[in-house]
Amino acid sequence: MTQTSENQIDTRPLLTGDTVSADEAQAAAELYRELISQHGSPLLVFDANVLREQFRSLQAALPKVELYYAVKAHPDANIIKVIDELGGGFDIASAGEMDLLLDHQVSGRRTIHTHPIKKDQEIRDALRFGATTFVVDNFHELKKLVNYRSRVGVLLRVSFRSASAKVDLSKKFGCSPDEVLALVEQAEQLGIHIKGLSFHVGSQVEDASKHVEAIHACRQLMSQINRQAEKPLSVLDIGGGFPADYELAGFSINTFCAPIRNALAELPSDWHLIAEPGRYLIAPAVTSITSIAGKSQRNGFAWYYLDDGIYGSYSGQLFDHATYPLQVFRGGQTAASIIAGPTCDSIDIVAENIMLPSLEIGDLVVGHQMGAYTAATKTRFNSLPDAKLVVLNASARVD
Ligand SMILES: *Cc1c(COP(=O)(O)O)cnc(C)c1O
Repeated sequence: MTQTSENQIDTRPLLTGDTVSADEAQAAAELYRELISQHGSPLLVFDANVLREQFRSLQAALPKVELYYAVKAHPDANIIKVIDELGGGFDIASAGEMDLLLDHQVSGRRTIHTHPIKKDQEIRDALRFGATTFVVDNFHELKKLVNYRSRVGVLLRVSFRSASAKVDLSKKFGCSPDEVLALVEQAEQLGIHIKGLSFHVGSQVEDASKHVEAIHACRQLMSQINRQAEKPLSVLDIGGGFPADYELAGFSINTFCAPIRNALAELPSDWHLIAEPGRYLIAPAVTSITSIAGKSQRNGFAWYYLDDGIYGSYSGQLFDHATYPLQVFRGGQTAASIIAGPTCDSIDIVAENIMLPSLEIGDLVVGHQMGAYTAATKTRFNSLPDAKLVVLNASARVD
């Protein structure tokens, strides 16, 4: 993905009137204009059918794995409703995420609480909610569960660092593989049931090699423990990390997951397998629609000021290191341009040096693959309004 600066051309995928067929572009533009005239600008458009398709394709690629949607990727009631209807589980990490599920009468039994560090109140809230699976990665956290040991099954999170992941989720959490045996023994002494291992190899990984490496390592650890343990470990949680197609390169989840399927096939068939996908499920299901509020010519660049930006729907460009494919609906000669957000801050720039056709005030600028870690990290800086989320295809198709 592209890190932009004024001196470097922004080479993210860009759809223009010259690269997309006129019919396709016109259909999209008409739909977006209609939505904007109905709901105002800016918008995030959530197409529930895309989420259904992503869920089914990941489920087909990992047929023996139970999917728990990582709520933090996009904590929205409309999204939770669709995952609920699909029979998916939920990966939660806070009381606020539980409240979202409570609003939808999702049972706590369909959740796993995966935050390795918890206050006692958080544990009690989660138990009251009905969650029974918790994750720990050190002895201090194990001790916190002693009072509740008859009601919990625990996963030990193991750290496998990944240099290639966009977001390394094994830096902050997870014990090292060689601490696992001692932690399992300590848990046994405390009377706490460790039912398995979990890991997260990092978000937006390039390929499945880290997943495969981690599955092999966990298989060895669990088998070693099970040769002696009274209660064998039988759950393996392979986390998230499944990538979104920010390059619009025709990514295939089935191909991506093939090595993972092979590694999982070597495990004892009675082990229970779990994954916690966030990004892959929701990224392509949400599209950002913004309008150009103003334009200017400054220092050789055409500047376009949008009504949404880095402090809003595009916050993932900062926090998640993502770069989203953009679309405009004009073609013709291009010029070095800058797309800026609406706040008064100069970091609020969406694309720094991008070759765009000439655009007009009122034109739409569309961001694709914008469902994951976008609205989730927005702020209300400058007291600007949030992009409103509108839902397409809320009811499932009956085929
Ligand atoms: C963020 C997170 C996820 C989701 O990861 P993706 O890469 O978005 O699939 C899953 N599990 C845990 C514990 C997480 O922190």
